[in-house]
Amino acid sequence: MENEISLKPFFAGQGQRPYWIAGPCSAETEEQVMETAHGLENSGIDLFRAGVWKPRTRPNDFEGVGTKALPWLRRVKEETGLKVCTEVANAHHVHESLKYGIDVLWIGARSTVNPFSVQEIADALQGADIPVLIKNPINPDVKLWMGAIERIYGAGIRQIGVIHRGFSSFGNSTYRNQPRWQLAIELKRQFPDMAFICDSSHICGNREMLFDVSQKALDLNYDGLMLEVHPNPDAAWSDAAQQITPVVFTEMLSRLRFRQSTSTDPDFLDSLESLRGQIDEIDDEILALLGSRMKLADGIGAFKKKANISILQTSRWNEILEKGVEKGAKKGLSAELVLGIFKAIHQESINRQHKIMRE
Ligand code: PEP
Ligand code: MN
Repeated sequence: MENEISLKPFFAGQGQRPYWIAGPCSAETEEQVMETAHGLENSGIDLFRAGVWKPRTRPNDFEGVGTKALPWLRRVKEETGLKVCTEVANAHHVHESLKYGIDVLWIGARSTVNPFSVQEIADALQGADIPVLIKNPINPDVKLWMGAIERIYGAGIRQIGVIHRGFSSFGNSTYRNQPRWQLAIELKRQFPDMAFICDSSHICGNREMLFDVSQKALDLNYDGLMLEVHPNPDAAWSDAAQQITPVVFTEMLSRLRFRQSTSTDPDFLDSLESLRGQIDEIDDEILALLGSRMKLADGIGAFKKKANISILQTSRWNEILEKGVEKGAKKGLSAELVLGIFKAIHQESINRQHKIMRE
């Protein structure tokens, strides 16, 4: 189905410059919402965010003020001219948001994970003409994320974007939600026309790492950022540690560098073409070498079978890994890369030898 999806650009000028979304995690009071909006009004943002219904992990956390905050967002539109967006998690939220003129909706990570919720939202959206942003599910499952896109598309929505907000993990991590960039890159490969927004606030969970993660997303050619902004972050009723003031946000935007995804400069294109040609040749060599290596592994498999020797030889395997990491380091390769490649090759070798043993 992914190849049949044909989207309209999420925002005018997609690909020209990044799309900025900012605003508080939650709408707390009318004053707090208006103060944030006025603080952001001249910062160049495209969309003002505020959570009205807040999905919280524990029941006693602040769960949002609900429909009462929708007129505050309408006031933001009237007084600042900014477009506004909020999170919807069920049909009631969709109906209320449409009634109050919310411009863009987003589906949160805890809803994307649940096909029943996404389908309920999709059914409520049937016939509506409103852009929808879909956050990644909390667990690292690209198919679930794609499923949510397909359900919203199935409701007739054609302006769809995704928000990468990172994935939950067990144990200690420097991130609140692990970015696992590869998963988002895989989704981008499946949906090349889709707008990709990085929610650095929920990936980081703190202010210190916000700039670096945001810059990384822009270097990876994301179409925009969503950042949480609050007039008094430390006193925020939700996600206090990761919110920044409008002043800090505006200063951060001015420092972020964004690059064009392509160039028309012929010198640049020539050099790029030549380097890419060399890379393609090396990739071909790597594949040819892997093919030869696997043939040797098959030979060893047959040999072990005849001699009735087990496939896994731990000491030999440790020796390969240690030598590989050492030699790789001399060529400027990280241990992470060498171990990742060797483990993948070793697994394939084991699979093939196992097959030979069974035959
Ligand atoms: C939010 O944007 O404040 C939020 C609840 O995000 P997520 O769904 O990514 O946890
Ligand atoms: Mn939040």
